[in-house]
Amino acid sequence: MKKQYAVIGLGRFGGSMCKALADQGMEVLAIDIDEDRVNEFSNVVTHAVIADSTDEGVLKSLGIRNFQHVVVAIGDNLQSSILTTLILKEMGVEKITVKAQNDYHEKVLRKIGADKIIHPERDMGVRIAHQIVSNNVLDYLELSDEHSIVELVATKKMNNKSLIELDIRAKYGCNVVAVKRGKDIYVSPQADQSIHQGDVLIVIGGDKDINRLEKQMA
Ligand code: ADP
Repeated sequence: MKKQYAVIGLGRFGGSMCKALADQGMEVLAIDIDEDRVNEFSNVVTHAVIADSTDEGVLKSLGIRNFQHVVVAIGDNLQSSILTTLILKEMGVEKITVKAQNDYHEKVLRKIGADKIIHPERDMGVRIAHQIVSNNVLDYLELSDEHSIVELVATKKMNNKSLIELDIRAKYGCNVVAVKRGKDIYVSPQADQSIHQGDVLIVIGGDKDINRLEKQMA
């Protein structure tokens, strides 16, 4: 059976999520308290309904419990976001992802059992900052406070050298987990994998180590 998703709150974040899920052929129920927002999505998703998600009766009548994954994307209204999450949790929804506004919001969401808490603006800010600071960083994913995965463009200094010659693991304590070259991708490359300028290296490691690697290879 097809997985069913529900997105509550059709602002910029919830709205783009609905579009992306629908584009991937998923069944999506979109919910918002605002009629105009709902109308905007009626042709995009499987069902779009006007409803206040803090009303337990309404969520029950929509059969929200049967959805495999519910995303709460209510922006500013912390009270509505928290209450909605609590109701979904009490109903036994399998997986609940919630967009958090700040650390306080996150703390409460964690306490009431949200499965995944996201901070799109904060995370995107950090990612873009990394891309701006270094011309060679294409993308950046934070794994913990101190560890990340980055996409680094191989520089002239790396050209025609093998991974063993570059000795990235010993010198910088980072691991190259894949090398992308045009449409090809070499996952878990061997030590003798040669690198060409312009290849994209997917590197995992400590933030300080990755920074050193970026600077010395620039
Ligand atoms: P973003 O920052 O992603 O653009 P917004 O704060 O603009 O998010 O949008 C949040 C959406 O959530 C709005 O469309 C708003 O109408 C909707 N919303 C707020 N409270 C409720 C609620 N109780 N039930 C359903 N939708 C709600």
